[in-house]
Amino acid sequence: MNPARRFLLPWLLLLPTSPLPAQAIDCDELPRLAAEIHDLRDEDANAGVARGEALLERMYRGDLDCAEGEMLVLRALGSNLYVLGRPHEGLVHMRRALELLDDLPDVAPESRAEVHLTAGVLHWELEAHDEAISHYLASMRASEAVGDMTAVARAAGNIGNLYNTTGDFQRAREYHERALDGFEQAQWQLGVAGTLVNLAALAGRKARAHEADDDLAAAEEEYIRMLEDARGALALFEALDNERGVAHARTNIATALVGLGRSHEALEHQKAALALQREVGDRGGEIQSLISLARVKQSQDNLDEAAELLDAAVALTPEDNLSGRYAVVELLSGLEEARGDYRAALEHHKTLNRLRRRIADNQMAARVEETRLALEAEQRDQELALLRREAEIADLRLERQRTASVIAALSAIMLLILLAFVFTLYRGRVQRSRQLEQVARTDPLTELSNRRDMMERLETAHRESRGTGDIHSIILADIDDFKQINDRHGHAVGDEVLRHVATLLSDAVRGRDVVARWGGEEFLVLLQYTEVSGGDAVAGNLIDLVATHPARTAAGDLSLTMTAGVAGLTAEVPVDEAIRRADAAMYRGKESGRNRHVVSREGDVAGT
Ligand code: GH3
Ligand code: MG
Ligand code: MG
Repeated sequence: MNPARRFLLPWLLLLPTSPLPAQAIDCDELPRLAAEIHDLRDEDANAGVARGEALLERMYRGDLDCAEGEMLVLRALGSNLYVLGRPHEGLVHMRRALELLDDLPDVAPESRAEVHLTAGVLHWELEAHDEAISHYLASMRASEAVGDMTAVARAAGNIGNLYNTTGDFQRAREYHERALDGFEQAQWQLGVAGTLVNLAALAGRKARAHEADDDLAAAEEEYIRMLEDARGALALFEALDNERGVAHARTNIATALVGLGRSHEALEHQKAALALQREVGDRGGEIQSLISLARVKQSQDNLDEAAELLDAAVALTPEDNLSGRYAVVELLSGLEEARGDYRAALEHHKTLNRLRRRIADNQMAARVEETRLALEAEQRDQELALLRREAEIADLRLERQRTASVIAALSAIMLLILLAFVFTLYRGRVQRSRQLEQVARTDPLTELSNRRDMMERLETAHRESRGTGDIHSIILADIDDFKQINDRHGHAVGDEVLRHVATLLSDAVRGRDVVARWGGEEFLVLLQYTEVSGGDAVAGNLIDLVATHPARTAAGDLSLTMTAGVAGLTAEVPVDEAIRRADAAMYRGKESGRNRHVVSREGDVAGT
């Protein structure tokens, strides 16, 4: 990987990851979508289930965290599955919805009421009565909290119906009355009428129970209540133009009247109900009416007509409605017995036995099917749970990756800063030490090498010549009568003269040669790889150069001369010795009149 890319990578990982557009679901959209799915149950529950499941899957895949929306979608799905007769599957979704509800203490009470209501319906369907009731109660409480009396009444009505099926008539009546109260408060007439029908049916059941106990007075009381409630319902249904309701109310009225021994009046209502049911094509209602009518006839001892009516009821009952057929045939069999037609009664008994067997078989098949569906639902639930977990894990992984990237990037930045800091520090230090080094090796006045620097160079050259046998030369040059210049023109002019000579000398030598200020007005020149004869020639040139180039000073042009001694720096001659020789030669030059150069010879002694 090239360094630029390696550096870029952590930054790329830091970029926010955008979700795929296909998975973009807005949490705020979910309640509306859930309501749409819920409403589908009345038109096309299969479509409702398909939409609900697709939506859930998208939510889990998109890792959308909208607990309330998810809960409402689950509830809508449960509702559709209930309508489709798939309560086990519905309950699986509702369990998850209830879990979510537990984690949402501040959820809208309406949503809470809806979830509990659907949970209640599904539990009831699966005959989990206690749970059903506790959900209905929770739903009622939530609706009461927001004063939604229609919802309160609906839940109460459900509880009433449930107690009715379990035979707890007292409680059933209590809750139906609460429902009635709620619907009346909400002024929802259809609800009021429906509840009155429920109350009438309940009174009928109670009356029959009293009859069975031979408590005829109590039975009569119930029939009277039944009649009153059913009449109330009738008036409302008529006002609402609800024909099915009217027929239903009339059937109840007829039943009550039969119970009260007023069969003739009953007949009218029952016939009217039957006519209406035929008109609106209410097959189930028609069968019920035929049975009721048969009862009326039977109570009037008109057994032949009663038998005819029951035959008609059997004919209307669909082949596959086994329990419906069973109920009618049972009545028929009783009727034939009453008529004394034992042969017919026996035939009916045989039919009943056949029906019983078929019902038992069907129940078995239904149970098997139920188990299969429950298993399927369980599996589907596990798949969804897996999806949820995968989404959670992917989320965690991404989180961890992002954290790691951030740490990596921060570390990289910190490392860079640290490196930059250390490098700056280092460079500064090197620069400073170079400067110090430079200062330590330079003569401040002339900017030539100083004595210390020259000494090291001389030592180096000497070491080399010991290795290679090379010969170098040195020239020690001293300005003549320099003291007089100082004395005449001042120290500053003296300094100018020193700088002038320094420039002349350093400009005159080759690049590899070095000129140093050796002392006050003394200069030492190292001529590398130069024999003494060469040194002699160079020294001559330098002497001439100085003599022919006066110094331009504040005191005017000043002519100068210089005297120099030349010596060889070889493997055999140590540095000190070479310098001493050059000095001695220079001294001889001064002695013999200045403005000249002298090559050292053996035995030269250093001058003063
Ligand atoms: P000679 O020809 O024998 O060399 O005579 P001289 O006068 O040049 O020699 P002397 O050694 O008597 O005088 C050297 C003078 O150089 C003495 C000293 O004050 C002067 N001098 C040394 N260093 C400097 C400096 O940095 N600047 C100036 N202006 N004068 C300096
Ligand atoms: Mg001098
Ligand atoms: Mg001197």
